[in-house]
Amino acid sequence: QRQMGAADAQAVRDMLARGDIGPRTLPASQAPDAPADFAQFERLLRGEWSVERVLAELKASGLRGLGGAGFPAWRKWETVRAQPGPRAMVVNIDEGEVGTFKDWHVLAHEPRPFLEGMLIAAHVVGAEHIWIYLRDEYHDVRQLLQAELARLAQRIEGWREAHPGITFPEVELRRGAGAYICGEESALIESVEGKRGMPRLKPPIVALNGVFGRPTLAHNVETLWWLPTVLARGGAWLARQGRHGRSGLRRFSVSGRVAKPGVYLAPAGITLQELLHEYAGGMAPGHTLYAYLPGGASGGILPAALTDVPLDFDTLAEHGAFVGSMAVVVLSQHDRVRDAALNLMRFFEHESCGQCTPCRAGTTQSVALMQAPLWDAERLGDLSHVMREASICGLGQAAPNAFDSVLRFFPQEVQA
Ligand code: SF4
Repeated sequence: QRQMGAADAQAVRDMLARGDIGPRTLPASQAPDAPADFAQFERLLRGEWSVERVLAELKASGLRGLGGAGFPAWRKWETVRAQPGPRAMVVNIDEGEVGTFKDWHVLAHEPRPFLEGMLIAAHVVGAEHIWIYLRDEYHDVRQLLQAELARLAQRIEGWREAHPGITFPEVELRRGAGAYICGEESALIESVEGKRGMPRLKPPIVALNGVFGRPTLAHNVETLWWLPTVLARGGAWLARQGRHGRSGLRRFSVSGRVAKPGVYLAPAGITLQELLHEYAGGMAPGHTLYAYLPGGASGGILPAALTDVPLDFDTLAEHGAFVGSMAVVVLSQHDRVRDAALNLMRFFEHESCGQCTPCRAGTTQSVALMQAPLWDAERLGDLSHVMREASICGLGQAAPNAFDSVLRFFPQEVQA
């Protein structure tokens, strides 16, 4: 995304003009109705919904954090709510995971359910201040979001007059500065506080001690987007969606060698084969499936033999992979997985915040070893162990997935 050249940008514009990429979603019969703007939040304000009932619906929905970690949303809410005030909220729109562009899509096309969900969440946990952290590369949606926030501020004034007993949160938009690591919630909070964006040592978790020391609810755009639907249709409705024993709906960002790249709202647990053929139009002409990244840069690389595995949180661990933010990148016989893995490791080397040695030195060492014609599997294995066990945050812990996947599934490529 960051290094898109003029020719690539023109190619994307051409594909958009032809309708080859863009939003594609569930068939209408399965898609959630778009709830009326702020109707559920207003029900909360009028007392038609109690905070306890919202929490019960959220729990029944099984909604999980869709920024990558998949943590149950209701658990975060209950933890923050149980802490003494003042409490805060941060909205993570740093969407920097390689191949992920679903939050951009939500902001560009459906910002109001997201903003309504943000207000519902802040109201339930009692957050007095909301910081929205937007990656600065999203300058187009920044303008749109600023306009929506100006409208929201007017609405909030109206609600304040109508409901004088209710405290409404201050909402502030903060611009990131292009650091991938600021998508990690504690690094994001450091950045909001005006410091260099570096992950904090945990504990304490941010739900207990987050922005400016306040108990903080941290959520991604897509997670918040679901809240009006959960209240309008009931949590059980969302929980009933899904395939292959999984629950919920997810937005998959699909790119690479597919006929129709785009953002697809699809059942949790869908397999790559199903996603590819039911949504993304199959492989691009002249390409045969060889491998795929199920979860952006961090989630490992899987071979074509594993395209019938349900894609969801917790389903890929036995294959050394995870879905994270559901960024699916498809590779074909024209790609070499070792090249893709090296590219990913260079990305991690560049984006490492440098705070801890296993990640700072480990990513550099990994790049050097992966450039050799014949990979030294033993040294890479040692590096993988140290990085996973001793890195402070997920960047250093997940970076070895890139070469571990090659060693495990593509041994024929270890010798260039
Ligand atoms: Fe920084 Fe990497 Fe350590 Fe995370 S693992 S704190 S990105 S050096």
